[in-house]
Amino acid sequence: MRALVTGCAGFIGSHLCEFLLKKGYEVIGVDNLCTGSIKNLEEIKDSITFIKKDITRPLRISGALDEIYNLASPASPVAYQRMPIQTILTNSLGTKNMLDLALKKGASFLQASTSEVYGNPLKHPQKEDYFGNVNPVGPRACYDESKRFAETLTINYYWKFGVKTRIARIFNTYGPKMSKDDGRVIPNFITQALKNQPITVYGRGLQTRSFCYISDMVQGLYKLMQSDYCMPINLGNPKEIRIIELAKLVKKLTKSNSKIVFKKIPPDDPAKRRPDIRLAKKVLHWKPKVCLRDGLKSTIRWFEKNL
Ligand code: NAD
Ligand code: UDP
Repeated sequence: MRALVTGCAGFIGSHLCEFLLKKGYEVIGVDNLCTGSIKNLEEIKDSITFIKKDITRPLRISGALDEIYNLASPASPVAYQRMPIQTILTNSLGTKNMLDLALKKGASFLQASTSEVYGNPLKHPQKEDYFGNVNPVGPRACYDESKRFAETLTINYYWKFGVKTRIARIFNTYGPKMSKDDGRVIPNFITQALKNQPITVYGRGLQTRSFCYISDMVQGLYKLMQSDYCMPINLGNPKEIRIIELAKLVKKLTKSNSKIVFKKIPPDDPAKRRPDIRLAKKVLHWKPKVCLRDGLKSTIRWFEKNL
């Protein structure tokens, strides 16, 4: 099997490449390194074909392709708000380029969508048939709306051209190889705790998230690609936690002397988020296995070595 992974030098992409190589795939990775790092490919650099390229530009690949995993996109609020237009174009034009490639090659295509398509949800937990509550002109819109557009484009390539498309609505995922500077909550808290710097909780920390460990996510993405399910499907861990509790847990697990401090909450920060994963359980026979405490411990170990 021959797979193309866009966003291969990012957090999820690099883990997915390792997973596919272990399964015996030939892997081609594409990345423009705008948020990813070539260091994430260090262990597999001799096994993967890496192409430094922006997916908003048309991409030619010689030979056959069986699967395309389209993961390229800035993912952290700090990163996508720093490059909003680039994010919009990556998820719109970039997704179109990758869908055209899938059409040409007869490859299956998986789009990395996001729980952000639900915006600041008015329904809880979030089920795939909920259409969401998104501010189209808010600071998160460059990401949320372009990911929503990407879902629309993807499903229309299925309806119109019969491309074997898959749409994964990925909920907050964490683990080794997350960039310490990308501003997401788990790398922020771990980095701050290990350096005994203040742990920055936004607002009063009463907002919730549900965190999925990377090995579970990669399994879910792979299972989805192997399925024949073309409508959006939630992938995430349904165990929900308040951000203030997460801060306390990271402080405890790192045995840190950090103080927990409270900062202004950014606008449109979703108040709660938890996936309903009944569909993934039924269709993919998939559910996360790694609990937050164990996942955090191995993530902390990685940050200790790599800070
Ligand atoms: P990441 O920032 O670590 O990785 C994204 C990668 O895409 C980076 O290596 C970046 O350089 C690359 N990239 C961005 N724009 C590109 C372009 N135009 N051309 C080529 N490469 C480009 O983020 P991640 O957490 O690994 O996220 C991967 C995917 O999963 C993204 O599509 C993201 O939206 C989605 N997702 C992630 C999460 C999460 O919690 N990690 C949650 C929901 C959705
Ligand atoms: N957050 C926080 N402190 C930080 C970074 C993030 O309290 O240093 C909060 C943020 O306001 C949000 C949650 O943690 O409510 C998750 O943020 P993240 O940026 O990881 O992802 P999001 O789910 O918001 O896209």
